[in-house]
Amino acid sequence: MSYHIAVIPGDGIGPEVIRETVRVLDCVSQKFGFTLNYTQYLAGGCAIDATGKPLPDETLEGALASDAVLLGAVGGEKWDTLPSDMRPEKALLGLRAGLGLFANLRPAVLFEQLAAACPLKPELTAGGLDILVVRELTGGIYFGKKERGENYAYDTMSYTEDEVRRIAHVAMKAAMGRSRKVTSVDKANILESSRLWRQVVTEVAEEYPEVTLSHMYVDNAAMQLVRNPKQFDVIVTENMFGDILSDEAAMITGSIGMLPSASLGEGTRGMYEPVHGSAPDIAGQGIANPLATILSAAMMLRYSLGQEDAAKAVEAAVDAALFGGARTKDIALEGEAVLSTAEMGDCVLAALEGLA
Ligand code: NAD
Repeated sequence: MSYHIAVIPGDGIGPEVIRETVRVLDCVSQKFGFTLNYTQYLAGGCAIDATGKPLPDETLEGALASDAVLLGAVGGEKWDTLPSDMRPEKALLGLRAGLGLFANLRPAVLFEQLAAACPLKPELTAGGLDILVVRELTGGIYFGKKERGENYAYDTMSYTEDEVRRIAHVAMKAAMGRSRKVTSVDKANILESSRLWRQVVTEVAEEYPEVTLSHMYVDNAAMQLVRNPKQFDVIVTENMFGDILSDEAAMITGSIGMLPSASLGEGTRGMYEPVHGSAPDIAGQGIANPLATILSAAMMLRYSLGQEDAAKAVEAAVDAALFGGARTKDIALEGEAVLSTAEMGDCVLAALEGLA
């Protein structure tokens, strides 16, 4: 098997974390007998400098012709004063829209070895945490009709059945590969769009009899995430609720340097990137944590390339590296030895080589 990956390192620490991730991908693909062909493309600030555009046509075309897109991060102070349609972040929106990505998957995993970074009481997270937030990305109040008048303003939360149906399928399919439990989060006691959401998610769930579906109001979900987070497996929700809940779930795990994400569309092609940004404050120092990007690549192996065993091997290697005491500065406790970005890459590679 051979796959084409569009690699977009971007700005700041993007190229540093992508470098380690590609090394890990090379190793795991060799181990599991498939080939990854990479083509590098520009996006973000570096693309503005080189071409005058945050998302050059060649990059979008390359992404469209690939099996998956692996992205580092974009942005930095240098480009902060540009008009909004010329900013580096425009590249992300352009890629999402151009690739038709409507589902954002953000796992919040608390690695037992990093439990000290979790702000919750240890008994609430004993044995680790593994929640997947599936957020609708292209509908809802962020994209609905809005208006600002002289003394009023409104935004509209609207969804079509098809928009809800397709994200519900993504959540159900993801749950099938996990603990087969989906919590759909809405505000159906108040919002008409939530009543439609609940009805359609319930209909879709009938096609997945092995998945247990429950519904929860968003205010309760926000509370339950810090009260009893272990009750959740997959959470599926609309755009704004997902924006807020995925950040809340992420905080439970402690470090931004550990959080991967995937954005998916209708087919198998997706875009994979760490949740963190380009971290200009530490760029060029070789100290960034590459694990969020390496874990994003594991999601790529799982969701776009169908290489579940390879995905699990990468995740197990990250786990083993952490278990062996590997820490970059952001996840090290006082007194613990601190590794560089490349040394953390070495540890994951060594763990990968060591796996049966
Ligand atoms: P950030 O995520 O880049 O950094 C926040 C803090 O976390 C910083 O102190 C940084 O050093 C630290 N951090 C982030 N990633 C880390 C890692 N892998 N290892 C160790 N420490 C890490 O967020 P910010 O400072 O708000 O934004 C910086 C730039 O990144 C801005 O231009 C912003 O627009 C952009 N940004 C891009 C994306 C993206 O490309 N998807 C996402 C968020 C922010």
